[in-house]
Amino acid sequence: MLDLVLPQRCVSCRALGENLCGSCINGFTILPSLHCPLCNAVIAKPSTLCRQCRRKHPKLRGIVVVGSYAGPLRKAVHGFKYQSRTSLSHNLGQLLSASIIEAGVPPSAAIVPVPLHRKREAARGFNQATLLAQEVSETLRVPVLKDGIARVVDTPPQVGLSRSQRLRNVAGAFSARPGAYCRGGVLLVDDVATTGATLVTCARQITQEGGAPWVWGAVLARGG
Ligand SMILES: [Zn+2]
Ligand SMILES: [Zn+2]
Repeated sequence: MLDLVLPQRCVSCRALGENLCGSCINGFTILPSLHCPLCNAVIAKPSTLCRQCRRKHPKLRGIVVVGSYAGPLRKAVHGFKYQSRTSLSHNLGQLLSASIIEAGVPPSAAIVPVPLHRKREAARGFNQATLLAQEVSETLRVPVLKDGIARVVDTPPQVGLSRSQRLRNVAGAFSARPGAYCRGGVLLVDDVATTGATLVTCARQITQEGGAPWVWGAVLARGG
């Protein structure tokens, strides 16, 4: 409602006019780098996993990342998620779509937002991953499938945990409907990935329980 009444300001630099201005978008530290999105090992092809991570997660084909979780992108994601600036989903979703196309992700049968626990989604009023997935869905013309996977355990926040602690934290947190994704590959969308533990765990459920042949992850930002 407030957006309709007040003039818009850039979520990052507060300039009047747009909810996210062009110069802040230009200030994003755009990835992909030639580092494995899970372990930072050097890789040959951007967005793919290194050989060791591929062996561990053979059905997670890669993770597309728009940029580093720093500077204006961090402010944009923060405003989107915690200040309910949901109108940012359009700009951010467009950026995510462009990165997915650039990475050469093969056509998927479904786009899947990483689910929030229903209590957390009710408290926030929306799931930021769902809003992003809807934008990507419009651009790629692939349907969003929301009810194929659920967050069945309300896990504590991952902030401050190591990679192995995060994996333990989210193990068993997600449940996929058997056969929900048997029609083809899945593009799994979230806002931020730090160690990738959530993406790895969801991808495992989507392939092992849900029946998808492969999963690609796609996130706005990679945290440090
Ligand atoms: Zn700005
Ligand atoms: Zn790796």
